[in-house]
Amino acid sequence: MPAICRTSRRPKRSRGSCMSSLLSHRASAPSQSAVAIGAALELIEPSIPYGFCALVRPVGGDHGCIEDAPQRADLIGQEIRLPHGLLGDGAAGLDATALRVPLAWTVACGGRPDWFFAAPVPHCRLHLIAVGIGPHHLSVERLSSVANLLGRLVQAGEATKLTRDASERLQALVRHVPVPVLFVDAMGAHEVQMNDEAAVLLGLAEGMRQPQAVAGALARLINAKGRHSLHRALTEDPHASLQFEIQQAGRDFRTDSRWIDDESLCGRLWMFTDITREKALQRQLADLAAHDPLTGILNRGSFDLRLREEIERAGRHRTPLGLLLFDLDHFKAVNDGWGHPAGDKVLKAAAAAAGAVLRGSDVFARIGGEEFAVILPETSAQGMLGVAERIRVAVAALEVPHGDALLRVTCSIGAAVHDAARNMPEALVARADEALYAAKRGGRNRVVATGELATGT
Ligand code: GH3
Ligand code: MG
Ligand code: MG
Repeated sequence: MPAICRTSRRPKRSRGSCMSSLLSHRASAPSQSAVAIGAALELIEPSIPYGFCALVRPVGGDHGCIEDAPQRADLIGQEIRLPHGLLGDGAAGLDATALRVPLAWTVACGGRPDWFFAAPVPHCRLHLIAVGIGPHHLSVERLSSVANLLGRLVQAGEATKLTRDASERLQALVRHVPVPVLFVDAMGAHEVQMNDEAAVLLGLAEGMRQPQAVAGALARLINAKGRHSLHRALTEDPHASLQFEIQQAGRDFRTDSRWIDDESLCGRLWMFTDITREKALQRQLADLAAHDPLTGILNRGSFDLRLREEIERAGRHRTPLGLLLFDLDHFKAVNDGWGHPAGDKVLKAAAAAAGAVLRGSDVFARIGGEEFAVILPETSAQGMLGVAERIRVAVAALEVPHGDALLRVTCSIGAAVHDAARNMPEALVARADEALYAAKRGGRNRVVATGELATGT
């Protein structure tokens, strides 16, 4: 019997083999599947007392390249000629005594082999072959079932590789997206992919980007500013899409959060769009739309809105609410005598003088050409009349320089308090208006309150 290395004396298997590269593309880090393949091959080792088994990739003709050989690492990567007809579509067993055996096998086995077995490995272009000298305890069926097991492991390894590749591709994509973006993977490892922009926005320093820290930062984002409805929406439907605006480090962001669920990707995607300029423009437009360009105070539209709001609030909190309407007296004469620009100057000065005697919580608006309104929340009738008188005095005291002249003007003021029974804003305005015209009729430059106030009813 020729001397053949026994299993125990054979060189240790090299883990950085072609097989592991087939599975992971990273020979330096053998995958679990590659390790399992070694174990699978070792399953048939005891059946081959003198010989070895190998994974062979056909390279054309009767030649094959040894991809893996657990007990013969020295053969890995070698191209070797095989007995004719061994690498077919199905499993085969050949009696080598009746064959012309290529010399390389005699060298590899340390003597002329007596038998060959081969079985194709499903899902890859590999064959599992076993070769030996002397008696064997191997059947074609046994070899074939081990080859099938290897095929399944290869397939699982490919799936693992695909998943990892997809995750790496997603990571690269997220890194290169030029806006803050973050993906919380709900599959497998629950990884978080995010770019630096998202980390900065969420205040997550380097080394603080583990899933738990990210989840905490996202929860804080949702719950900030009392966004309880968002929290509720997510509790009711974890797959709900959310859209909300946030302010971070003096910038505005629109946050889009949506659940993605398709075959290759499942998790929650967060995108943050910087809308600072958009918001600034919006604020400018809203400001323009709400204010009177000449005097800078609120305009008629804003007055209508605010009056509704204040009436509602007064009703809710059962607090008093006053309304003053005032109109410049004989203003037409200012325009006619000094020109329209002079009239504008007087309008601006009157608005500024009246505004100066009001509180920050009072709502002051220009509601017509030379007509103004003041909403006085949480103000009693007496307080309201005090404010009205201060306005009248301030306007009457004005001296508006125009050329060599000093222009003067007075105003008439009508005052009314909100009546909870007549809850409509129009009713309050109409009563203040009646009082204003009573002031005009009474000789101007005066304050008149609605009848019920004047009579104390
Ligand atoms: P009364 O005391 O009864 O209120 O008399 P009046 O002259 O103030 O009232 P009238 O309604 O007859 O005239 C209001 C004037 O206000 C007429 C209009 O040309 C002028 N006016 C309205 N808006 C502006 C404005 O924006 N600028 C200027 N300069 N004048 C305006
Ligand atoms: Mg007037
Ligand atoms: Mg008028």
